[in-house]
Amino acid sequence: MSFLTVENLQAAYGPSQALFGVDLRVAEGEVTALLGRNGMGKTTTVKAICQMIRSSGTITLDGKNLQGLPSHKVARSGVGLVPEGRRCFMDLTVHENLIAAARPGEWDLRKVASLFPRLDERGNQRAASLSGGEQQMLAIGRALMTNPRLLVLDEATEGLAPIIRQEIWAAMRQLKQNTSVAILLIDKSLKELATVSDTATILARGRTVWSGAMSDLTSEVSEKHIGV
Ligand code: ATP
Repeated sequence: MSFLTVENLQAAYGPSQALFGVDLRVAEGEVTALLGRNGMGKTTTVKAICQMIRSSGTITLDGKNLQGLPSHKVARSGVGLVPEGRRCFMDLTVHENLIAAARPGEWDLRKVASLFPRLDERGNQRAASLSGGEQQMLAIGRALMTNPRLLVLDEATEGLAPIIRQEIWAAMRQLKQNTSVAILLIDKSLKELATVSDTATILARGRTVWSGAMSDLTSEVSEKHIGV
């Protein structure tokens, strides 16, 4: 059953329309990859879901309408966002960042530490002193501390060293295997996405041009729409 449902999503930045009709579904407990070349509307779709920009069309989470809610209420409804560029509180320590995000549920400091032991080792360091990869782990940890029902990662491993990327992908696989959280995942690496995603949706020029099971995503389709 569809947990996140997005239908005919349209959005603009001032006079310039960016989304012309995005349809997207994430099923309960599943991982969906949101794919597309640069500038095709992935981040705009995420911003619209999280109500960070205005849009028209349907956005529901577990049947609840998210359209028109303030962003903090979208978060409270169960959407945990790991935004592009991470946006941790740089002056706070790792633990303070995590605690600031905490909401009741199974995810707590101990559980985040077991997913990302590096974060625990650096618990008393300021976020500003972390590497980019560690900051990304912290951003994921913060989102998990909100105990989301849907985790949204915009550019999961962008700009990170290969070894850190592998740690992030391993964490994604662990989340998929051991938790019931649904995940919407944006990343450039189709190869890694394919190892963790159940379904995929491809955007081109602000529209959904393909969606289906990840296993049905042929090289012809990916070459045509993503260029890989
Ligand atoms: P990328 O992979 O490069 O992050 P994307 O698929 O996430 O790309 P978006 O960032 O959603 O694409 O951009 C969709 C369109 O909206 C592009 O044409 C982009 O130039 C435009 N756009 C994005 N952000 C803004 C903004 N703040 N103001 C005006 N136009 C914007």
